[in-house]
Amino acid sequence: MMTGNEYRESLRKLKPVIYFEGKRITVDDPMIAPHVNAAAMTYDAAHDALTEDLATATSHISGEKINRWTHIHQSQEDLVKKVKLLRMVAQRTGSCFQRCVGWDALNALYSTTYDMDQKLGTDYHQRFVKYLEYVQKSDIMVAGAMTDPKGDRGLAPSQQADPDLFVHITERREDGIVIRGAKMHMTGMVNSHEMLIMPTAAMKEEDRDYAVSCAIPVDAPGVTHVFGRQTNDDRKKCKMDQGNCMYGIVGGEAITILEDVFVPWDKVFMAGEYEFSGSLVERFATLHRQNYGGCKSGVSDVVTGASAAMAEYNGAGKASHIKDKLIEMMHLTESLYCCSVACSAEGGKLPSGAYYPDPMLGNIVKQNVTRNIYEIDRLSHDIAGGLIATLPSEQDFEDPEIGGKLKKYLAGKADYPVEDRYRMARLLENMTGGTALVESMHGAGSPQAQRIMMYRMGNLPMKVKLAQDLAGIDREKEKK
Ligand code: SF4
Ligand code: FE
Repeated sequence: MMTGNEYRESLRKLKPVIYFEGKRITVDDPMIAPHVNAAAMTYDAAHDALTEDLATATSHISGEKINRWTHIHQSQEDLVKKVKLLRMVAQRTGSCFQRCVGWDALNALYSTTYDMDQKLGTDYHQRFVKYLEYVQKSDIMVAGAMTDPKGDRGLAPSQQADPDLFVHITERREDGIVIRGAKMHMTGMVNSHEMLIMPTAAMKEEDRDYAVSCAIPVDAPGVTHVFGRQTNDDRKKCKMDQGNCMYGIVGGEAITILEDVFVPWDKVFMAGEYEFSGSLVERFATLHRQNYGGCKSGVSDVVTGASAAMAEYNGAGKASHIKDKLIEMMHLTESLYCCSVACSAEGGKLPSGAYYPDPMLGNIVKQNVTRNIYEIDRLSHDIAGGLIATLPSEQDFEDPEIGGKLKKYLAGKADYPVEDRYRMARLLENMTGGTALVESMHGAGSPQAQRIMMYRMGNLPMKVKLAQDLAGIDREKEKK
């Protein structure tokens, strides 16, 4: 298992093509550094006596101790540990540590390739297990790559004006396949070692070339990443103004463009088996939605703590309405956590032997995140005050001319240094605004994607029957 520093070193051996603001940058760039630090925490946690139990697991393939972010869940306890692990690391980073996307892709592909082989007599699962062994042994970070650009949302992949708006196979060769297209919103992609390409939706027969899954190094020929902007990202170069200088805000997303990328057969896990693309997407989505009551509750713990600290610095720490708002934030946070634990505890075994969270409850978790985080953050703004939106820059704060005057007028309760109030305001501003908030809405799929799943799994006819039975309505008799 790598340490955080070994992970950082291993990234320097790769040569991914990354653009930002019209220039080529490397993974050491200050724009990417906080996200590397957050991901490094997933490596360091495995070596820390306090967190080792959650952050490591025993491989069901090799029997060796591995980093849990590469593990295939073998029990409900594994699923619950996943949620606890995410909350713990989110409490330490206050950010997104990105590695869960690839972890979920590994789990989704493990069970789906097994089902494919059972039905079709293919050998994808065997291939995939070999790849998994390599991932577990080398402890690499794998980016999960599902979301396509999708173009006109009313049209299927093969009906698009531009065929590349969904990733597809352009050539099948004796030694492998060639793919083209792009993947959007790629969390942690630029600081991963490899990516796992998956289809973005259920496919029909005419879209069979779009039903493709494979593993590619992030620096493979033909791969270009364009790193995304975030709210206030110029501040990543600042000492205090970034708010969370060490770990940044959410995941550091990129658009990844794939221009005729060759993939050898041993790294191909789906190539045209369109009837399995839907279940691969559903499994990945459920596994990633399961997470959100883990990592977002950890992040919300930090937001709640920062709000309480701000109230105290402002001299309002003992006000009853502040206490009430903090209680509400805790209630909303724990509600998210409850649901993640519940979908894990209610999880079950798939034919491959891997464990999988309850999909209905997993979708409920994510739907609640799209609401509760906005309310938690709204309460934090209410408590902290307008200062978090109007604070002058750290350059002014530290300026020999004006800094003293700012410190005089930015002082709160005399027991606390004015810099503490400044730093806490910045942390809250960045954790609760712009990019961070939108990520809660759309990360792991938009709210509508969850509602479609809920309706499908909600078993409405059974519920209607329950009501009819109690109301004394006999449908069979009515029909006669
Ligand atoms: Fe992991 Fe949460 Fe980030 Fe998704 S949003 S990668 S679950 S930390
Ligand atoms: Fe995410």
